[in-house]
Amino acid sequence: MKNIHPQYNVKAAVKCACGNTFETGSTSEAISTELCNKCHPFYTGTQKILDSARRVEKFQTRIGKKAGEVRSKKDKEAKRRAEREEKKKAKMEPEKK
Ligand SMILES: [Zn+2]
Repeated sequence: MKNIHPQYNVKAAVKCACGNTFETGSTSEAISTELCNKCHPFYTGTQKILDSARRVEKFQTRIGKKAGEVRSKKDKEAKRRAEREEKKKAKMEPEKK
């Protein structure tokens, strides 16, 4: 009989990039992962950008923004509205005089 079945490890240690560790059954002794149920956005409900190649950072420096300075859609709308109001005021003022 051929012995081709791999050794099954009942207590394989899984280590996540977030620091969480747990045990599972596997043919390998240790597993390292980038995401687990403690840090995946589906479970945490918060946005998380996995940027191992620093692509987000590079993009932000390219368009002249610092990391973490990304404005939300609402902020952009509010800024646009304020600019529009200023333009209106600028147009109105000469007429008053
Ligand atoms: Zn994790």
